Amino acid sequence: MEKVIIIRYAELHLKGKNRGWFERVFVVNMEKSLKGIKHEIRRHSGRYLIENFQEKDTETILERLKKVFGIHSYSVALKVSSDMDAIFKASDEVCSKSGTFKVETHRADKTFPLNSMQISAEIGGRLLDKNKEISVDVHSPQFVINIDLRENNTALVFNEFFKGAGGMPVGTSGKGLLLISGGIDSPVAGHMIAKRGMSIECIHFHSYPYTNMQAKEKVIELAKQLSAYSCGTKLNIVSVTHIQEEIHKKCNGDYMVTLLRRFMMRIAEKIALNCGAQCLITGESLAQVASQTVEGMTSSNSVIEKLPVLRPLCGFDKDEIIERSRAIGTYETSIEPYEDCCTVFLPRHPVTRPKLADVEAEEAKLNVNMLVDEALNSLEIVTL
Ligand code: ATP
Ligand code: MG
Repeated sequence: MEKVIIIRYAELHLKGKNRGWFERVFVVNMEKSLKGIKHEIRRHSGRYLIENFQEKDTETILERLKKVFGIHSYSVALKVSSDMDAIFKASDEVCSKSGTFKVETHRADKTFPLNSMQISAEIGGRLLDKNKEISVDVHSPQFVINIDLRENNTALVFNEFFKGAGGMPVGTSGKGLLLISGGIDSPVAGHMIAKRGMSIECIHFHSYPYTNMQAKEKVIELAKQLSAYSCGTKLNIVSVTHIQEEIHKKCNGDYMVTLLRRFMMRIAEKIALNCGAQCLITGESLAQVASQTVEGMTSSNSVIEKLPVLRPLCGFDKDEIIERSRAIGTYETSIEPYEDCCTVFLPRHPVTRPKLADVEAEEAKLNVNMLVDEALNSLEIVTL
Protein backbone atom coordinates (compact mmCIF):
# COMPACT_ATOMS: atom_id res chain seq x y z
CA MET A 1 0.00 0.00 0.00
CA GLU A 2 1.44 3.30 -1.06
CA LYS A 3 1.18 6.34 1.18
CA VAL A 4 0.23 9.57 -0.61
CA ILE A 5 -0.80 13.08 0.47
CA ILE A 6 -3.99 14.61 -0.92
CA ILE A 7 -3.87 18.39 -1.30
CA ARG A 8 -7.13 20.33 -1.64
CA TYR A 9 -6.75 23.93 -2.62
CA ALA A 10 -8.38 26.96 -1.13
CA GLU A 11 -9.87 29.85 -3.08
CA LEU A 12 -8.51 28.87 -6.47
CA HIS A 13 -11.92 27.79 -7.63
CA LEU A 14 -12.98 31.44 -7.56
CA LYS A 15 -10.57 32.45 -10.24
CA GLY A 16 -12.36 31.68 -13.52
CA LYS A 17 -10.12 32.34 -16.49
CA ASN A 18 -6.88 32.76 -14.58
CA ARG A 19 -7.23 29.45 -12.88
CA GLY A 20 -4.54 27.73 -14.92
CA TRP A 21 -2.03 30.38 -14.00
CA PHE A 22 -3.02 30.29 -10.31
CA GLU A 23 -2.54 26.56 -10.28
CA ARG A 24 0.85 26.73 -11.94
CA VAL A 25 2.08 29.22 -9.34
CA PHE A 26 0.61 27.02 -6.62
CA VAL A 27 2.48 23.95 -7.84
CA VAL A 28 5.74 25.89 -8.18
CA ASN A 29 5.34 27.03 -4.55
CA MET A 30 4.73 23.49 -3.34
CA GLU A 31 7.78 22.33 -5.29
CA LYS A 32 9.88 25.09 -3.71
CA SER A 33 8.73 24.16 -0.26
CA LEU A 34 9.56 20.47 -0.80
CA LYS A 35 12.97 21.19 -2.30
CA GLY A 36 15.51 18.54 -1.37
CA ILE A 37 12.91 15.86 -0.60
CA LYS A 38 12.21 13.08 -3.09
CA HIS A 39 8.57 13.29 -4.24
CA GLU A 40 6.25 13.82 -7.21
CA ILE A 41 3.29 16.17 -7.42
CA ARG A 42 0.43 15.13 -9.70
CA ARG A 43 -2.85 16.81 -10.50
CA HIS A 44 -5.69 14.47 -9.79
CA SER A 45 -9.18 15.64 -10.75
CA GLY A 46 -9.53 18.91 -8.88
CA ARG A 47 -6.83 18.23 -6.31
CA TYR A 48 -3.17 17.34 -6.11
CA LEU A 49 -1.46 14.20 -4.94
CA ILE A 50 2.04 14.05 -3.55
CA GLU A 51 3.43 10.62 -4.33
CA ASN A 52 6.63 8.60 -4.45
CA PHE A 53 8.12 9.98 -1.25
CA GLN A 54 9.90 7.98 1.39
CA GLU A 55 8.00 7.02 4.52
CA LYS A 56 10.61 8.68 6.73
CA ASP A 57 10.01 12.05 5.02
CA THR A 58 6.25 12.14 5.69
CA GLU A 59 6.42 14.40 8.76
CA THR A 60 8.86 16.83 7.14
CA ILE A 61 6.64 17.10 4.09
CA LEU A 62 3.57 17.79 6.22
CA GLU A 63 5.45 20.41 8.27
CA ARG A 64 6.53 22.23 5.13
CA LEU A 65 3.11 22.06 3.48
CA LYS A 66 1.64 23.83 6.51
CA LYS A 67 3.37 26.96 5.29
CA VAL A 68 2.17 26.88 1.70
CA PHE A 69 -0.62 29.38 1.09
CA GLY A 70 -3.43 28.19 -1.13
CA ILE A 71 -3.80 24.81 0.58
CA HIS A 72 -7.26 24.45 2.06
CA SER A 73 -6.78 21.04 3.63
CA TYR A 74 -4.71 17.92 3.21
CA SER A 75 -4.88 14.26 4.16
CA VAL A 76 -2.45 11.42 4.36
CA ALA A 77 -4.05 8.56 2.43
CA LEU A 78 -3.38 4.99 1.38
CA LYS A 79 -3.51 4.48 -2.36
CA VAL A 80 -4.70 1.04 -3.49
CA SER A 81 -6.21 -0.52 -6.58
CA SER A 82 -9.96 -0.14 -6.70
CA ASP A 83 -11.08 -3.64 -5.73
CA MET A 84 -13.05 -4.30 -2.57
CA ASP A 85 -10.43 -6.49 -0.87
CA ALA A 86 -7.70 -3.89 -1.31
CA ILE A 87 -10.05 -1.11 -0.18
CA PHE A 88 -11.00 -3.11 2.89
CA LYS A 89 -7.37 -3.74 3.79
CA ALA A 90 -6.57 -0.04 3.56
CA SER A 91 -9.72 0.88 5.53
CA ASP A 92 -8.77 -1.56 8.28
CA GLU A 93 -5.30 -0.04 8.38
CA VAL A 94 -6.58 3.51 9.01
CA CYS A 95 -9.45 2.37 11.26
CA SER A 96 -9.19 3.19 14.98
CA LYS A 97 -9.47 0.09 17.13
CA SER A 98 -12.27 1.44 19.29
CA GLY A 99 -15.02 4.10 19.15
CA THR A 100 -17.84 5.00 16.79
CA PHE A 101 -17.36 5.47 13.08
CA LYS A 102 -18.90 5.71 9.67
CA VAL A 103 -17.62 5.09 6.17
CA GLU A 104 -18.06 7.79 3.55
CA THR A 105 -17.47 6.97 -0.09
CA HIS A 106 -17.00 9.32 -2.99
CA ARG A 107 -17.21 7.55 -6.32
CA ALA A 108 -15.75 9.43 -9.31
CA ASP A 109 -15.47 6.13 -11.21
CA LYS A 110 -19.07 5.57 -12.25
CA THR A 111 -18.23 2.23 -13.90
CA PHE A 112 -17.47 0.64 -10.54
CA PRO A 113 -20.04 -2.16 -9.96
CA LEU A 114 -21.19 -0.91 -6.54
CA ASN A 115 -22.52 2.58 -5.82
CA SER A 116 -21.21 4.75 -2.97
CA MET A 117 -23.81 3.62 -0.43
CA GLN A 118 -23.15 -0.04 -1.18
CA ILE A 119 -19.39 0.39 -0.90
CA SER A 120 -19.72 2.20 2.47
CA ALA A 121 -22.13 -0.46 3.75
CA GLU A 122 -19.97 -3.38 2.71
CA ILE A 123 -16.68 -1.95 3.99
CA GLY A 124 -18.40 -0.83 7.22
CA GLY A 125 -19.80 -4.33 7.72
CA ARG A 126 -16.44 -5.99 7.17
CA LEU A 127 -14.75 -3.56 9.59
CA LEU A 128 -17.37 -4.34 12.23
CA ASP A 129 -16.82 -8.08 11.79
CA LYS A 130 -13.10 -7.72 12.25
CA ASN A 131 -12.93 -5.09 15.04
CA LYS A 132 -15.09 -5.94 18.01
CA GLU A 133 -14.56 -2.63 19.85
CA ILE A 134 -16.03 -0.35 17.19
CA SER A 135 -19.63 0.52 16.34
CA VAL A 136 -21.41 2.58 13.72
CA ASP A 137 -22.79 6.06 14.35
CA VAL A 138 -23.75 7.80 11.12
CA HIS A 139 -24.77 11.09 12.81
CA SER A 140 -21.84 11.98 15.05
CA PRO A 141 -19.12 9.38 14.62
CA GLN A 142 -15.80 9.67 16.46
CA PHE A 143 -13.96 8.93 13.24
CA VAL A 144 -14.78 8.75 9.56
CA ILE A 145 -13.17 6.46 7.03
CA ASN A 146 -13.15 8.18 3.68
CA ILE A 147 -12.94 6.20 0.47
CA ASP A 148 -12.31 8.11 -2.69
CA LEU A 149 -12.68 6.00 -5.85
CA ARG A 150 -10.80 7.63 -8.70
CA GLU A 151 -11.29 7.08 -12.43
CA ASN A 152 -7.93 5.41 -13.01
CA ASN A 153 -8.64 2.25 -11.05
CA THR A 154 -7.26 3.58 -7.83
CA ALA A 155 -8.87 4.27 -4.49
CA LEU A 156 -7.66 6.66 -1.82
CA VAL A 157 -8.47 5.77 1.78
CA PHE A 158 -7.94 8.17 4.68
CA ASN A 159 -9.37 9.17 8.03
CA GLU A 160 -8.15 12.70 8.71
CA PHE A 161 -8.43 16.19 7.26
CA PHE A 162 -5.75 18.64 8.33
CA LYS A 163 -6.40 22.34 7.94
CA GLY A 164 -4.01 24.00 5.49
CA ALA A 165 -2.67 27.57 5.62
CA GLY A 166 -5.51 28.87 3.42
CA GLY A 167 -5.14 32.09 1.43
CA MET A 168 -3.86 32.49 -2.11
CA PRO A 169 -0.67 31.13 -3.70
CA VAL A 170 2.19 33.53 -3.07
CA GLY A 171 3.10 35.29 -6.30
CA THR A 172 -0.45 35.71 -7.57
CA SER A 173 -1.00 39.13 -5.93
CA GLY A 174 2.16 40.95 -6.92
CA LYS A 175 5.06 41.88 -4.69
CA GLY A 176 5.49 44.06 -1.63
CA LEU A 177 8.40 45.39 0.42
CA LEU A 178 8.03 44.74 4.15
CA LEU A 179 9.66 47.09 6.64
CA ILE A 180 10.88 44.54 9.14
CA SER A 181 12.14 45.73 12.50
CA GLY A 182 12.98 42.78 14.70
CA GLY A 183 9.88 43.31 16.84
CA ILE A 184 6.82 41.13 17.10
CA ASP A 185 4.58 43.01 14.71
CA SER A 186 6.27 43.35 11.36
CA PRO A 187 6.77 39.60 10.65
CA VAL A 188 3.08 39.07 11.42
CA ALA A 189 2.17 41.88 9.02
CA GLY A 190 4.31 40.26 6.30
CA HIS A 191 2.71 36.88 6.92
CA MET A 192 -0.80 38.31 6.60
CA ILE A 193 -0.09 39.96 3.28
CA ALA A 194 1.77 36.90 1.95
CA LYS A 195 -1.33 34.90 2.80
CA ARG A 196 -3.27 36.99 0.31
CA GLY A 197 -0.84 35.89 -2.39
CA MET A 198 1.75 38.64 -2.33
CA SER A 199 5.42 37.77 -2.49
CA ILE A 200 7.45 39.64 0.07
CA GLU A 201 10.89 41.17 0.04
CA CYS A 202 12.18 42.73 3.27
CA ILE A 203 14.01 45.89 4.27
CA HIS A 204 15.58 46.54 7.65
CA PHE A 205 17.13 49.73 8.99
CA HIS A 206 19.87 49.58 11.59
CA SER A 207 22.01 52.16 13.33
CA TYR A 208 25.21 50.28 13.92
CA PRO A 209 27.21 50.83 16.15
CA TYR A 210 24.35 52.16 18.32
CA THR A 211 22.53 48.91 17.60
CA ASN A 212 24.63 45.75 17.68
CA MET A 213 25.34 42.89 15.30
CA GLN A 214 23.05 40.50 17.17
CA ALA A 215 20.13 42.79 16.37
CA LYS A 216 20.97 42.34 12.70
CA GLU A 217 21.33 38.55 13.04
CA LYS A 218 17.95 38.45 14.70
CA VAL A 219 16.30 40.24 11.79
CA ILE A 220 18.00 37.92 9.31
CA GLU A 221 16.57 35.00 11.27
CA LEU A 222 13.07 36.52 11.27
CA ALA A 223 13.23 37.22 7.56
CA LYS A 224 14.27 33.59 7.01
CA GLN A 225 11.34 32.31 9.05
CA LEU A 226 9.01 34.52 7.05
CA SER A 227 10.49 33.43 3.75
CA ALA A 228 9.32 29.87 4.44
CA TYR A 229 5.79 31.24 3.89
CA SER A 230 6.33 34.08 1.50
CA CYS A 231 8.84 32.48 -0.87
CA GLY A 232 10.80 35.73 -0.45
CA THR A 233 14.52 35.43 -0.67
CA LYS A 234 15.93 38.90 -0.13
CA LEU A 235 16.55 41.14 2.86
CA ASN A 236 17.77 44.68 2.18
CA ILE A 237 19.70 46.22 5.06
CA VAL A 238 20.29 49.96 5.22
CA SER A 239 22.12 52.08 7.78
CA VAL A 240 20.30 55.09 9.22
CA THR A 241 23.04 55.91 11.73
CA HIS A 242 24.03 59.19 10.18
CA ILE A 243 20.40 60.23 9.67
CA GLN A 244 19.73 59.72 13.37
CA GLU A 245 22.88 61.60 14.34
CA GLU A 246 21.85 64.52 12.17
CA ILE A 247 18.32 64.60 13.57
CA HIS A 248 19.76 64.41 17.08
CA LYS A 249 22.15 67.27 16.36
CA LYS A 250 19.92 69.62 14.42
CA CYS A 251 16.25 68.99 15.20
CA ASN A 252 13.92 69.06 18.14
CA GLY A 253 14.55 65.65 19.72
CA ASP A 254 10.87 65.01 20.30
CA TYR A 255 10.56 64.54 16.53
CA MET A 256 13.22 61.80 16.35
CA VAL A 257 10.85 58.90 15.64
CA THR A 258 8.54 60.94 13.42
CA LEU A 259 11.39 62.19 11.26
CA LEU A 260 13.15 58.83 11.19
CA ARG A 261 9.93 57.18 9.97
CA ARG A 262 9.79 59.60 7.05
CA PHE A 263 13.34 58.72 6.08
CA MET A 264 12.55 55.03 6.29
CA MET A 265 9.55 55.50 4.02
CA ARG A 266 11.50 57.48 1.44
CA ILE A 267 14.32 54.95 1.32
CA ALA A 268 11.94 51.99 1.31
CA GLU A 269 9.96 53.43 -1.60
CA LYS A 270 13.10 53.92 -3.67
CA ILE A 271 14.23 50.35 -3.02
CA ALA A 272 10.72 49.03 -3.67
CA LEU A 273 10.52 50.74 -7.05
CA ASN A 274 13.95 49.35 -7.85
CA CYS A 275 13.07 45.75 -7.05
CA GLY A 276 9.61 45.79 -8.61
CA ALA A 277 7.64 45.88 -5.37
CA GLN A 278 4.26 47.55 -5.73
CA CYS A 279 3.59 48.57 -2.14
CA LEU A 280 5.19 49.01 1.26
CA ILE A 281 4.03 46.96 4.25
CA THR A 282 4.48 47.94 7.89
CA GLY A 283 3.58 46.36 11.22
CA GLU A 284 1.90 49.47 12.59
CA SER A 285 -1.20 49.02 14.69
CA LEU A 286 -3.38 52.01 15.43
CA ALA A 287 -2.72 53.59 18.84
CA GLN A 288 -0.34 50.82 19.95
CA VAL A 289 2.50 53.24 20.76
CA ALA A 290 3.01 56.98 20.67
CA SER A 291 4.10 57.11 17.03
CA GLN A 292 1.28 54.97 15.70
CA THR A 293 -1.43 57.56 15.51
CA VAL A 294 -3.29 58.58 12.41
CA GLU A 295 -1.35 61.87 12.51
CA GLY A 296 1.91 59.88 12.61
CA MET A 297 0.74 57.87 9.61
CA THR A 298 -0.20 61.07 7.77
CA SER A 299 3.28 62.36 8.40
CA SER A 300 5.02 59.24 7.09
CA ASN A 301 2.62 58.77 4.17
CA SER A 302 3.16 62.30 2.93
CA VAL A 303 6.75 61.61 1.82
CA ILE A 304 5.74 58.67 -0.34
CA GLU A 305 5.32 59.52 -3.97
CA LYS A 306 3.84 56.52 -5.72
CA LEU A 307 3.17 53.42 -3.68
CA PRO A 308 0.39 52.49 -1.27
CA VAL A 309 1.34 51.50 2.28
CA LEU A 310 -0.39 48.40 3.63
CA ARG A 311 -0.81 48.27 7.40
CA PRO A 312 -2.62 44.98 7.94
CA LEU A 313 -2.32 45.09 11.75
CA CYS A 314 -4.06 48.42 12.19
CA GLY A 315 -7.17 46.85 13.66
CA PHE A 316 -5.48 44.29 15.91
CA ASP A 317 -4.79 44.38 19.65
CA LYS A 318 -1.32 43.46 20.84
CA ASP A 319 -2.47 40.10 22.26
CA GLU A 320 -4.05 39.19 18.93
CA ILE A 321 -0.76 39.99 17.21
CA ILE A 322 1.19 37.95 19.77
CA GLU A 323 -1.12 34.99 19.24
CA ARG A 324 -0.49 35.12 15.50
CA SER A 325 3.22 35.55 16.04
CA ARG A 326 3.30 32.36 18.12
CA ALA A 327 1.22 30.53 15.55
CA ILE A 328 3.54 31.38 12.67
CA GLY A 329 6.65 30.63 14.74
CA THR A 330 8.34 34.05 14.85
CA TYR A 331 7.51 34.98 18.45
CA GLU A 332 10.49 33.40 20.20
CA THR A 333 12.94 35.17 17.91
CA SER A 334 11.06 38.48 18.07
CA ILE A 335 11.30 38.71 21.84
CA GLU A 336 15.07 38.33 21.93
CA PRO A 337 16.17 41.51 23.67
CA TYR A 338 18.25 43.41 21.09
CA GLU A 339 17.73 47.09 20.50
CA ASP A 340 16.04 48.45 17.41
CA CYS A 341 17.19 51.72 15.86
CA CYS A 342 13.94 53.36 16.97
CA THR A 343 15.14 53.07 20.56
CA VAL A 344 18.35 54.96 19.86
CA PHE A 345 18.24 58.66 20.85
CA LEU A 346 14.71 58.01 22.04
CA PRO A 347 13.15 61.31 23.22
CA ARG A 348 11.54 61.59 26.63
CA HIS A 349 8.40 63.18 25.18
CA PRO A 350 7.92 61.99 21.60
CA VAL A 351 5.29 63.93 19.66
CA THR A 352 2.20 61.79 19.38
CA ARG A 353 0.03 63.88 17.09
CA PRO A 354 2.56 65.63 14.88
CA LYS A 355 1.29 68.50 12.72
CA LEU A 356 2.61 68.12 9.23
CA ALA A 357 3.73 71.77 9.06
CA ASP A 358 5.80 71.35 12.26
CA VAL A 359 7.33 68.11 11.01
CA GLU A 360 8.29 69.74 7.75
CA ALA A 361 9.77 72.72 9.58
CA GLU A 362 11.97 70.39 11.65
CA GLU A 363 12.94 68.39 8.61
CA ALA A 364 13.89 71.57 6.71
CA LYS A 365 16.93 71.75 9.01
CA LEU A 366 18.34 68.66 7.30
CA ASN A 367 19.77 67.91 3.89
CA VAL A 368 17.18 65.24 3.18
CA ASN A 369 18.23 64.22 -0.32
CA MET A 370 21.86 63.89 0.61
CA LEU A 371 21.03 61.76 3.66
CA VAL A 372 18.73 59.51 1.65
CA ASP A 373 21.36 58.96 -1.03
CA GLU A 374 24.00 58.28 1.55
CA ALA A 375 21.77 55.70 3.25
CA LEU A 376 21.02 54.06 -0.10
CA ASN A 377 24.76 53.73 -0.64
CA SER A 378 25.00 51.68 2.54
CA LEU A 379 22.59 49.08 1.12
CA GLU A 380 23.60 45.52 1.83
CA ILE A 381 21.57 42.63 0.41
CA VAL A 382 21.29 39.36 2.29
CA THR A 383 20.07 36.35 0.33
CA LEU A 384 18.06 34.17 2.65
P1 ATP B 1 7.49 45.90 15.45
O1 ATP B 1 7.03 44.92 16.47
O2 ATP B 1 7.25 45.45 14.03
O3 ATP B 1 8.88 46.37 15.70
P2 ATP B 1 6.55 48.11 16.90
O4 ATP B 1 5.31 47.90 17.66
O5 ATP B 1 7.85 48.04 17.62
O6 ATP B 1 6.56 47.14 15.64
P3 ATP B 1 7.40 50.61 15.81
O7 ATP B 1 8.75 50.45 16.37
O8 ATP B 1 6.65 51.89 16.04
O9 ATP B 1 6.37 49.49 16.23
O10 ATP B 1 7.47 50.36 14.27
C1 ATP B 1 6.34 50.39 13.46
C2 ATP B 1 6.67 49.75 12.13
O11 ATP B 1 7.70 50.49 11.46
C3 ATP B 1 7.24 48.36 12.26
O12 ATP B 1 6.22 47.39 12.37
C4 ATP B 1 8.01 48.22 10.98
O13 ATP B 1 7.16 47.92 9.89
C5 ATP B 1 8.57 49.62 10.80
N1 ATP B 1 9.93 49.69 11.43
C6 ATP B 1 10.24 50.12 12.66
N2 ATP B 1 11.57 50.02 12.88
C7 ATP B 1 12.10 49.50 11.76
C8 ATP B 1 13.43 49.13 11.35
N3 ATP B 1 14.47 49.26 12.16
N4 ATP B 1 13.60 48.60 10.12
C9 ATP B 1 12.54 48.43 9.29
N5 ATP B 1 11.28 48.76 9.62
C10 ATP B 1 11.05 49.29 10.83
MG1 MG C 1 9.75 47.91 16.85
